[in-house]
Amino acid sequence: MKRIDGRNYDQIRNVNITRNYIKHPLGSVLIEMGDTKVICTAMVEDKVPPFLKNTGTGWVTAEYSMLPGSTQHRKIRASSKGRIDGRSQEIQRLIGRALRSVVNLEDLGERTVWIDCDVIQADGGTRTASITGAFVALVDALYALYKEGTIFYIPIKDFLAAISVGIVEGNRLLDLCYVEDSSAKVDMNIVMTGNKEFVEIQGTGEEAPFSMDDLNELLRLAQKGNQELIDKQKEVLGEIAKLVGQEKPTEG
Ligand code: UDP
Repeated sequence: MKRIDGRNYDQIRNVNITRNYIKHPLGSVLIEMGDTKVICTAMVEDKVPPFLKNTGTGWVTAEYSMLPGSTQHRKIRASSKGRIDGRSQEIQRLIGRALRSVVNLEDLGERTVWIDCDVIQADGGTRTASITGAFVALVDALYALYKEGTIFYIPIKDFLAAISVGIVEGNRLLDLCYVEDSSAKVDMNIVMTGNKEFVEIQGTGEEAPFSMDDLNELLRLAQKGNQELIDKQKEVLGEIAKLVGQEKPTEG
């Protein structure tokens, strides 16, 4: 079975991660998964939300949006009242939750890392590409704080990546492009760590309920894809990758 873009059922799209893509943020990445392209930035603010004030703990939060020209039909940025749509809200919460799951927030100090994911071209899997790219931007931003002596180690416990899987015309597929996504009967987004543990599984078979066998095979495909993405993250981070997952240095 060959897919619309010639891939095998278990093959991810070509992935490129370009670091330091934008000048001002401490971390910035262009991630390309096939024709999906997202700019992910990480900026640090010396301030936390009210519920964390005077706790010494930090926060990681995310915003997500699609450029009007990123989709086939012009995507409006926000409603006339300035509200973003429900899908974008759901996605930005997912990105924030996913990243926080691998950060030792109490070792970040009272600062917030703002992650911004801006889709410049959408061809399926924009939320998963955002998570995979944002992770690299986050590492770069925290590395910058570490280098300047603001924090004493990089408080990131493990690598993190995300990928979509689904069932299209009866075939279980890894990393759906838009054409596949729009005809998928089952569609899932899976966030995983470098230790092959699950952080979040979003899935729906509302058009066609799926079996335990389907689920197991989809999870297996997602694990394969995510590990390939994490290999890529390690490759682009080079020596900095070794600082991810290190223990907090003991005082003294
Ligand atoms: N899409 C679009 N306009 C929208 C939302 C989505 O053209 O307002 C396309 C886009 O290519 C996107 C795909 O539909 O990647 C799948 O959207 P979904 O909501 O499943 O999220 P994604 O797969 O991008 O995380």
